[in-house]
Amino acid sequence: MNRINSASAGVNNSGYELVCGLETHVELATATKIFCGCPTGFGGEPNSRCCPVCLGHPGTLPVLNKEAVRLAVRAGLALGCEIHLSTHMDRKNYTYPDLPKAYQISQFDEPLCTGGFVELDSGKRIGITRIHIEEDAGKLVHDAATLIDNNRCGVPLIEIVSEPDIRTAGEAAEYAEKLRLIMRAAGVSDCRMQEGSMRCDCNVSIRKAGEDFGTRTEIKNVSSLSDIERAVRAEMSRQKEILDAGGKVVQATLRYDSTKNRTEIMRLKENADDYRFFPEPDIFRFVIPQSVVDEERAKIPELPSAKRKRYIGELGLPEETVGQFYGYSKITAFFEDALGFGASAKNTANLLIKALYPAFVSEDEKEEFKVKVTPAAFAELVKNVDDKKINFNRGAEILSEMNRTGKPASAFLSEADTKELTDKELESICLEAIAANPAAVSDMRDGKEKAINVLFGYIMKKTSGKADTKKAAEIIKNNV
Ligand code: ADP
Ligand code: MG
Ligand code: ZN
Repeated sequence: MNRINSASAGVNNSGYELVCGLETHVELATATKIFCGCPTGFGGEPNSRCCPVCLGHPGTLPVLNKEAVRLAVRAGLALGCEIHLSTHMDRKNYTYPDLPKAYQISQFDEPLCTGGFVELDSGKRIGITRIHIEEDAGKLVHDAATLIDNNRCGVPLIEIVSEPDIRTAGEAAEYAEKLRLIMRAAGVSDCRMQEGSMRCDCNVSIRKAGEDFGTRTEIKNVSSLSDIERAVRAEMSRQKEILDAGGKVVQATLRYDSTKNRTEIMRLKENADDYRFFPEPDIFRFVIPQSVVDEERAKIPELPSAKRKRYIGELGLPEETVGQFYGYSKITAFFEDALGFGASAKNTANLLIKALYPAFVSEDEKEEFKVKVTPAAFAELVKNVDDKKINFNRGAEILSEMNRTGKPASAFLSEADTKELTDKELESICLEAIAANPAAVSDMRDGKEKAINVLFGYIMKKTSGKADTKKAAEIIKNNV
């Protein structure tokens, strides 16, 4: 997963503070569209996945897809929202070439969910204002002429609106990253930003400390986590220049050009009034049974943030280590299975990262986590490291081989690897270490306790990391 450093704030030392809230569109993982039976999958021959309903031909009637409502409920539960069991859809009117109906069915005054939050690694919570259900529009392909692909028309979405609680560009990206992890873990969406199944609109304003919120602008459809951070930062700079020159920021909708690293105004901002929202007349108000809410709640597994906390708190793993894998559900399942076979958390996590990770380059590969090693075979190898039969680097070497060939650890453990180190052998190596490091020994005699590490280094090298440091320390102290 992309590691984002929240500490790297946007414009700093400028006297301005960022105020930012995100509106995130997440495509729901249903097989069919929200009001018709057309398939939702990514791609497809342009305009091959539409019908009179999703194209809004006169006389057709939409039928609400229950699975979409269920997934939206699940999303709300995963974010700790309140679910409003009785709700309705609204019609949002506007005309644009990617919207053949000239209206979008959405929710206006009674969103399905309100409240909730996303927690950042720092513990700071970004509030969720609301989640509503709506349909996607088509896609414009700008070629010599502009072409229209309506395959996405009517694909079910939720829009997740955050409170303006975000204060740095890094926090904005981290918020989106956490949101993505939660939605994926809960099975709400695959949140593939590169395929558009998660898109973020970033609302940005700046203010001097203690002032009221300033006028905001909205950067539309930012499509990667790193672009969120860069776009927010670029927009802060643009606004700062305007304010420093004595000007006023005007409310507008912008796009982010990632090659130029610049935000550009597309249009001046429209207001809710412009859309003439009214209750969708073709879909009745609906009531979600409590049993559906309970069923959806039961489908939510342990969420990534809880997992992260557990790995750090209960397993005692360092934050940096956990940060590298807690968001990939297949990896965490594999990790936990290996622990179930009695391997230590520390060596399991570190060996996984050291020896298995290099095989996975892309996010997708980590997501899929295709390995030839079973958790049991992995655990068996880790236990050799835990028991100091082999050292960590040798363990990593063997693990790579296991993963390359699919053979168990025993196929690679040599006689030298498995030979036990006797107390007598350890003692003679310790004495050797003392003789070979007179400077460190004299430091130790002068009370510099850390000098013993020099001897440990020597001993570990000689024993391929097999030496028991407690025993070795005792032997050394008795002989120095
Ligand atoms: P609209 O419905 O017109 O888009 P909202 O009030 O729903 O406006 O806000 C949309 C988003 O803008 C929310 O994510 C909210 O947190 C954010 N936002 C609101 N005011 C500000 C502000 N002054 N600066 C930055 N973001 C803001
Ligand atoms: Mg909005
Ligand atoms: Zn259709």
